Amino acid sequence: MYEPESLMKELGVDFARWHGGDLVCRSPIDGRELARLRADRGADCAAKVGRAEAAFIEWRRLPPPRRGELVRLLGGQLRRHKEALGRLVTMESGKILQEGLGEVQEMIDICDFATGLSRQLYGLTIASERPGHRMMETWHPLGPVGIISAFNFPVAVWSWNAALALVCGDSLVWKPSEKTCLSALAVQSLLEQAMREFGEAPADLSQLLLGGRECGMMLAQDTRLPLVSATGSTRMGREVAQACAARLGRSILELGGNNTAVIAPSADLELAVRAVVFAAAGTAGQRCTSLRRLFVHASVYDRVRERLIAAFRSLAVGNPLDAGTLVGPLIDEHAWTVMQDALRRAQAEGGRVHGGERVPVEGCDGGFYARPALVEMPAQGGVVQEETFAPILYLLRYQTLEQAIAWNNAVPQGLASSIFSNDLREAELFLSPAGSDCGIANVNIGPSGAEIGGAFGGEKDTGGGREAGSDAWKNYMRRATNTINYSSELPLAQGVRFSI
Ligand code: NAD
Repeated sequence: MYEPESLMKELGVDFARWHGGDLVCRSPIDGRELARLRADRGADCAAKVGRAEAAFIEWRRLPPPRRGELVRLLGGQLRRHKEALGRLVTMESGKILQEGLGEVQEMIDICDFATGLSRQLYGLTIASERPGHRMMETWHPLGPVGIISAFNFPVAVWSWNAALALVCGDSLVWKPSEKTCLSALAVQSLLEQAMREFGEAPADLSQLLLGGRECGMMLAQDTRLPLVSATGSTRMGREVAQACAARLGRSILELGGNNTAVIAPSADLELAVRAVVFAAAGTAGQRCTSLRRLFVHASVYDRVRERLIAAFRSLAVGNPLDAGTLVGPLIDEHAWTVMQDALRRAQAEGGRVHGGERVPVEGCDGGFYARPALVEMPAQGGVVQEETFAPILYLLRYQTLEQAIAWNNAVPQGLASSIFSNDLREAELFLSPAGSDCGIANVNIGPSGAEIGGAFGGEKDTGGGREAGSDAWKNYMRRATNTINYSSELPLAQGVRFSI
């Protein structure tokens, strides 16, 4: 049905380097074993960090626009191999092919962004209070950067970090999810091909570590990594944050979300329903920004409810490689069990469940396919407060916008939120300081599907990190403040007198 071996060959992966260990790679499409790889052990991890540390010393010497040239070449490799890499992502993560390709496109976009950025790593010039003095701010490369990534965006999350870190002059140590190692091998191979084309990059610039959480924890604890960027569950983020903080290292945390949409009385309901279905059911509810809570104004609640029930029922659930499929499988059996537990808890809390059952898919017996569930809830207690990484949409009826905003903010997570309204006052209130407390707040589009131009991330249990666009690059550099005296006097700051 599909051949990962030929894709890996096309992507230039030197399989022999990794093949033959106890790290089992499976496809969520049918549970089939794709490969067995050698995991990195403690000593391997330490050695790879050492190599990245040495490569950093060389890499930081190159002027940023030259470093940008490597990222431009990486973008070229990704353009050439978009189809193969997108397919591999689909095979390993289970997202539909359109989304697998979209994920690679996102990598290409961030490469373009970072290439331009390599000529724009601007510092400030600052007015000095002292005569004959000038102050300025310079941005310098930081060091080797640790990247820990999750299964649901197996390649794009790496690129958000890697493209910026590379132009900022940093080397890389990447620990991908143990569930999506083949995609990581393919990306590493494309970067190595770009490095060969470029010709000036140190061979050890990017190190790939395969393994589970122990490997990730080693990065968090390693004092040679000034920054660890970790994407995954809030549980993981708490552990990584504490390990980094204990050694006074920096971390960027991109963790779980419990994202919302508000449908206000003035909303364009056709547009809102389409957006809600994509945001809740797309990627089988396995995006950090997937829509999980929908607050609908009482005056339009029944209409929206009916349309959503019908839309969820008719969604094509199936093999993600098939062109007509809109919802692929869950990542594994554990995800299915967690989804069913959440639905049982929701029912016990007074919820009315529509959908959520297992869908048989021909030729994919080992996969876990679920019909997206719509759950009418009487209140936002217990299970609604949690991120269940599956296609479950909780539906609540609200009376006033203030109430909907209060519900939006009354959960531990703070990633993505949105309002559907054609009323300017409502939309602006939602975006205002008294509105959504999330890192992402949208109007008339759903909470999922971010573009790379903006800074991406969220507050509270989502971890507070920002990646990708805007000024997120500053995380990957160290800032130096310089004061230059071009006079022959020595005036002290704050007028302090000290004569000898
Ligand atoms: P996960 O937390 O199980 O694993 C993520 C990564 O962390 C993996 O590489 C894993 O090996 C590693 N890891 C796990 N425990 C660790 C530890 N104690 N120390 C160091 N590393 C550790 O998450 P997952 O199931 O792969 O992904 C789903 C989660 O990721 C969801 O919560 C989702 O919301 C979140 N996510 C967030 C974003 C974001 O940008 N905010 C993006 C994608 C996914």
